[in-house]
Amino acid sequence: MKFKTIFEPFKIKSVEPIIMSSEEERSLFLEEANFNPFQLHSKDILIDFLTDSGTSAMSSKQWSAIMDGDEAYAGSKSWLKMEEEVKDLTGFEYILPTHQGRAGERILYGYLGGKGKIFISNTHFDTTRANIEFSGAEAIDIPIAESAEPMLSHPFKGNMDTDKLKELLKKYGSKKIGAVIMTVTNNSGGGQPVSMKNAIEVSNLCKKFNVKFFLDCCRIAENSYFIKTREPGYINLSYRNIAKEMFALCDGCVMSAKKDGLVNMGGFLALKDKELADACTNLLIITEGFVTYGGLSGRDMEAIALGLREVFDEDYLKYRIRSTEYLGEMLYKMGVPLIWPIGGHAVYIDARSFYPHIPVDKYPGQALVCELYIKGGIRSVEIGSVMFGKYDKKGNLIPAPNELVRLAIPRRVYTQSHIEYVIEVFKILIENKRDVKGFVITEESEFLRHFTAKFKHAE
Ligand SMILES: *Cc1c(COP(=O)(O)O)cnc(C)c1O
Repeated sequence: MKFKTIFEPFKIKSVEPIIMSSEEERSLFLEEANFNPFQLHSKDILIDFLTDSGTSAMSSKQWSAIMDGDEAYAGSKSWLKMEEEVKDLTGFEYILPTHQGRAGERILYGYLGGKGKIFISNTHFDTTRANIEFSGAEAIDIPIAESAEPMLSHPFKGNMDTDKLKELLKKYGSKKIGAVIMTVTNNSGGGQPVSMKNAIEVSNLCKKFNVKFFLDCCRIAENSYFIKTREPGYINLSYRNIAKEMFALCDGCVMSAKKDGLVNMGGFLALKDKELADACTNLLIITEGFVTYGGLSGRDMEAIALGLREVFDEDYLKYRIRSTEYLGEMLYKMGVPLIWPIGGHAVYIDARSFYPHIPVDKYPGQALVCELYIKGGIRSVEIGSVMFGKYDKKGNLIPAPNELVRLAIPRRVYTQSHIEYVIEVFKILIENKRDVKGFVITEESEFLRHFTAKFKHAE
């Protein structure tokens, strides 16, 4: 369509009411949650931008397929459907169903990992890193240098640094390296894409050094959109064929279907090599379930088989990426500092620049997260010193490199009017910037403190 309006390529058949609330009510809810939005009840939220994971709306076709789910323990027809779909998309021979992405990671990286092993990625997602480190191995991130500059424009800011990769491959060799993992899109920075050219270079290096190369392909369809629209030579290929071309470069992939699978739960592991697949299948049976369901029910597998096809729909992907981009562009025009360019699934705001009067040890990101909720009922997440801060021996905060706030957009859930509303809320936040105060932590746990920490207003 040549119109400017971002058009949702779907009609709404079933609706979930949003319970309206006033600023006063939300102030109270937030106080009860000790100023930590993870502790809010979702019924008290107007727009939930906490994550794009498992929050997708399914299509009427997916819902009707769910009724058709075959719950047989072995040989379920729903499994055969999912297996065929994943094989066709990825081109890999061995498909293992898992209840979500991290289960596939635990199986694959647990097997290839262990003490002394090294894994290399553009950026390991946090569960990927955790599974690798839990096995005793080390995870090294080598994104391109441009990714460290929030405002620096680059069409493929998710790329891996191939010079560094070459050095590491030479230094450690195929015996020590467990695998090279390409995360597409690269989750950090809101889903920055990886170019085909970069994936080809990484694949060739891995072949040369005889090292396994895997895709963390949670957002492979969104990445294909960026390749088609930004990389020379791809404009005439379908999104699905672009994805297939990328899978063909690898030895396998791990997918959380909670993202581009357009379902609320599910995942898989797909592998080229029989020996590796056999070893992983053993682990699958011990920890997830029998080979024809893994951690899934028949109905889940029906929904995944369809979701993997729907996500490559041209009109869907255009709406998806444009809608996220539009939110980012409008905020940028209003002077909100953010990571540029806008990625596929989220907008990241630089809270330190937004609230320059709030020092880092008073958590400007947390202040923005709380303001968004009180003024607009919008839930977002702090990705800064609350999440990643540490303390030195004297108990002073060692801040995170950035104080970011992420607005992650669920798939097919909100309409363009919801996005316009969010933009309007930001106008209010800009007007009231100077009145906003920081926070101090009153209670926290030793690990992953952001989930449960309690806060109060700083003096
Ligand atoms: C979500 C995610 C995972 C883990 O998947 P889960 O389904 O949450 O276990 C792994 N890698 C990336 C890039 C992700 O976004």
